[in-house]
Amino acid sequence: MPKSISVLIVGGGLGGLSAAIALRRSGHRITVLEGAKELSEIGAGIQVPPNTACILEAWGLLDKWKEKAVWPGSIIMRRYANGEIICATQLKPDMTDKYKYPYLLIHRADYIRLLYDAAVDLGVKVIVNARVQSVDEETNSVILYDRRSFQSDLVIGADGIRSKVRRAVNGDDRITPRSAGCAFRATVSAEVMRSDPETSHFMNDVNSNFWIGPERHVVGYPIKNGTLYNLVMVLPGEAATNKWNEPGDLNEMKESYNDFDPVLKKILSYVTSCRKWALAELPAIAQWVSRSGTIALIGDAAHAMLPCLAQGAAQAIEDSATLGILLSNINSLEEIPSLLRMYERIRRPRAEIIQKGSFENCNRWHLPDGVEQRARDDAMSKADASRISGTKVKGVKNPLQWSDKDFQPWLYGHNAISVAKNVLQEIIKNPSSLEERPNL
Ligand SMILES: Cc1cc2nc3c(=O)[nH]c(=O)nc-3n(C[C@H](O)[C@H](O)[C@H](O)COP(=O)(O)OP(=O)(O)OC[C@H]3O[C@@H](n4cnc5c(N)ncnc54)[C@H](O)[C@@H]3O)c2cc1C
Repeated sequence: MPKSISVLIVGGGLGGLSAAIALRRSGHRITVLEGAKELSEIGAGIQVPPNTACILEAWGLLDKWKEKAVWPGSIIMRRYANGEIICATQLKPDMTDKYKYPYLLIHRADYIRLLYDAAVDLGVKVIVNARVQSVDEETNSVILYDRRSFQSDLVIGADGIRSKVRRAVNGDDRITPRSAGCAFRATVSAEVMRSDPETSHFMNDVNSNFWIGPERHVVGYPIKNGTLYNLVMVLPGEAATNKWNEPGDLNEMKESYNDFDPVLKKILSYVTSCRKWALAELPAIAQWVSRSGTIALIGDAAHAMLPCLAQGAAQAIEDSATLGILLSNINSLEEIPSLLRMYERIRRPRAEIIQKGSFENCNRWHLPDGVEQRARDDAMSKADASRISGTKVKGVKNPLQWSDKDFQPWLYGHNAISVAKNVLQEIIKNPSSLEERPNL
């Protein structure tokens, strides 16, 4: 019988709860410490790509997500000034046909609730109002601000971009996230969207629409079974210092997109309240696993990225699934450090490519009007035309990464559970392979 270990997960966001599910499924005893008074998710919508859907399916949860989700037909890239379509990435049925799993859009509150319910059903203990102040690397003890303390065989830092656990993992090296602009987030009711002939088609023909322009872009898609239209509006500048999420100024929001597509401006005119959210970049960090080998980072704590590949939560869930499989066959506590290092070796290269890709995508979308922007749009349109006609056009590489013929299958066709299972099989057959770099 594999050994059951005690695990403390710091942070009950999408990453922490998915790690709780993955590790509980492997027979471990899990406590999640969440600093907030209740579990919640800021912002409205989130995209759930096939590389997440395959993990949810393996956990027996995908049907529950499908009940709450909206299934978009395509991701459509539009010119900011007039809404003209530059190119489209087919999602339905293409993603399911190519990668076996769908691409979904869901409300964050539903996402967190579904993960929470699944974790609690499995027997995970979630403690709210438990803000962690520090983690001792030598003893694996976790101290809260209210002086309560906990101790476990393994600590997972799922406490987001401003992680406290990261300090224990990286010694004194305090990594400061760099400001990378901000985002307004808002929703408009389906009723209002449908009542206007100019905006109703966004509710009927369900797609994820991106209006890309100089230094800023807007994403819009329906969520909540089509009852809300979700908007994320990225722009340069900073949200108020030390506030990561604050009430937004409606006039500032609307003025920021003054030169955008009149139809989009119409949608923005229907917004009655918004939140402003700071975006930040996390530089690549020295290590994801402590020297002691008993503390590991996942999700934004390890590899926070910009929202321009819609992969932040997806990567946190891949981290969780990988840990769950690698730690499913532990025979003694001494095995934990090498298994955690294997986790980092498997996950780090992929997550860092995606992290870098998310920054590059943002820069590419935010080009000023001019020669480079025209070349970008031209290449996107040509790559799209070649996809639709099925004819290969030599030398055309799609600057839109999630449409690119090489990047797309690498991104969406990845099954983190299968990868981790293969590595674990290799370890079981040949324990010395734990020290080797896995052939992924
Ligand atoms: C505008 C925007 C759009 C995005 N769109 C997408 C998308 O479409 N698809 C996608 O996959 N990703 C998307 N992302 C990224 C995604 O939201 C994040 O990557 C993901 O939520 C990270 O999850 P996490 O659990 O690692 O961290 P977080 O969500 O930050 O959760 C951390 C949790 O830890 C808790 N915590 C923090 N400190 C402590 C402490 N000291 N003690 C105890 N608890 C603590 C927090 O309260 C929180 O609950 C987007 C992000 C943004 C900003």
